Amino acid sequence: MSTYPQRVADNILPLSQAETLPEAFGEWYFTGITEDHEQAIEECELCNQEQLRYHFKIKNKNTHKHLWIGSQCIIKFKVAVFEDDRLLDEKETKKKLNSLIKKMRFTSCMNALRQLAQKENHNILDNALDFYQKNKYLTPKLSFVIFWRLKSHGIDHSPSFFKVSLKRDKYKNDLREMEPHRVHLIWPALTSSQRKLALSMGHSAPP
Ligand SMILES: [Zn+2]
Repeated sequence: MSTYPQRVADNILPLSQAETLPEAFGEWYFTGITEDHEQAIEECELCNQEQLRYHFKIKNKNTHKHLWIGSQCIIKFKVAVFEDDRLLDEKETKKKLNSLIKKMRFTSCMNALRQLAQKENHNILDNALDFYQKNKYLTPKLSFVIFWRLKSHGIDHSPSFFKVSLKRDKYKNDLREMEPHRVHLIWPALTSSQRKLALSMGHSAPP
């Protein structure tokens, strides 16, 4: 079995002009193109890491070859990332990659909501779609309805990608008064501080 550095070299050198690492990496840049495979089933074409959900397309400026890789490899191998022709430093790169992942997660949530609205001709679901599009979060009550309906239709979705807001007192009260099984259903969408708040209200984590 080949070692990790060997695998990386074997994958990138044949597609580069430079014949050694790390020189070869100097020819590569992130194209800004991403792909969400909906499930963690893909492989990084650079390091062969498996179970990737998101792919980031990098390209060689000399050979014009490309590879679909994981975001971690962009950071690890310092693949050039630009924003309006400006080369980003490491911190900015991480921020940009995170915001791209966030965007893909939002799109995935919107797709699930759209599928749901098509399956059920119900006002509340059309409203939920508009509400999420506009606010980028759900209320506790709305999130319960959404997760319940998504689940019963078997629509593929990742509850943890949805954001629930508890900013308003009304939302906090709604959570406080929610039945335990409903809280358990929306639990994956809550942040760790929201979960703490729920516990302090007397709720429990799902079994
Ligand atoms: Zn990789």
